[in-house]
Amino acid sequence: MKLSIVIPIYNEEENIDSLINRLRTVVTQMQISCEYIFVNDGSKDHSFQLIKNLALADPAIKYIDFSRNFGHQIAVSAGLDLAAGDRVAIIDADLQDPPELIIDMFAKMDQGYEVVYAKRNNRNGESWLKKFTAKVFYRILKSITSVKIPVDTGDFRIIDRKVVNVLNQMPEHNKFLRGQISWIGFKQTYVEYDRKVRQAGSTGYTYKKMIRLALDGITSFSNFPLKVASICGFVVSGIAFMVMIYALYSRYITKDYVEGWTSTIISVLFLGGIQLISIGIIGEYISRLSENARNRPLYIINETNIKKEA
Ligand code: UDP
Ligand code: MG
Repeated sequence: MKLSIVIPIYNEEENIDSLINRLRTVVTQMQISCEYIFVNDGSKDHSFQLIKNLALADPAIKYIDFSRNFGHQIAVSAGLDLAAGDRVAIIDADLQDPPELIIDMFAKMDQGYEVVYAKRNNRNGESWLKKFTAKVFYRILKSITSVKIPVDTGDFRIIDRKVVNVLNQMPEHNKFLRGQISWIGFKQTYVEYDRKVRQAGSTGYTYKKMIRLALDGITSFSNFPLKVASICGFVVSGIAFMVMIYALYSRYITKDYVEGWTSTIISVLFLGGIQLISIGIIGEYISRLSENARNRPLYIINETNIKKEA
């Protein structure tokens, strides 16, 4: 099997037919063996019925039906788990990601890349709020993580079996696949495209789901929020120290003071600084704990000539 195409489905009954037609045209043109893995993520419409009917007529069509809605990232993960291909493509069902781009991405992989992702030049037909929040989110994420996660990129991509195997071993529950794939490494490149308008239906990504995805991305790839307390602590303590000197100066040198002010201000500042620093220290420990709790492999080997003895 050359290629598996993983398609997460949440209420996409109006898109499935045209999606599969366009995918089939692409695959015929590429002349490769291919399987289509539809992951029905608890759709409330007739999506699953449609997929089952397609599967009856075509053995290349596989399906996974979830017991309820688990979310896009988990749906894709399930598809990756059960995919048999040497390469796996991930594509949205709503035709915002043009299936024809798979041909270009596949050809790029033949040049020796393990990951080819699709970078969107512009996103048509999405609300300005969604575009704006997405833009801000990717920039913030970029500035606070050490992993190079490409900006303006979704999960539309082709990845090699090597990468799929590592992904399947990563045990974290809060999936942020585009980040995890960047973290895994190997040779990665991209092709550019214009993101289309959703063909039919409406987005399954509510703001609640988007915020959760954003928080998963940040907390899995950055300890910065945990360090905010230490940074504040040191800044506040620094300022507090200067104000303390000023308070003592006005109390004993210039003798221009209000009764009781010196001791009050000094104790407030002192305690505030100590508290923030202490929270920061706890944050430092928690950030290390969370790094270990993620249970990621320490390293990933591409190739070695050492045979490990059992
Ligand atoms: N999706 C899913 N589970 C969800 C939400 C979405 O499997 O809880 C699927 C959806 O069917 C589509 C893809 O994930 O194939 C992207 O979702 P959507 O188009 O709604 O997101 P948007 O493009 O608006 O960000
Ligand atoms: Mg969409």
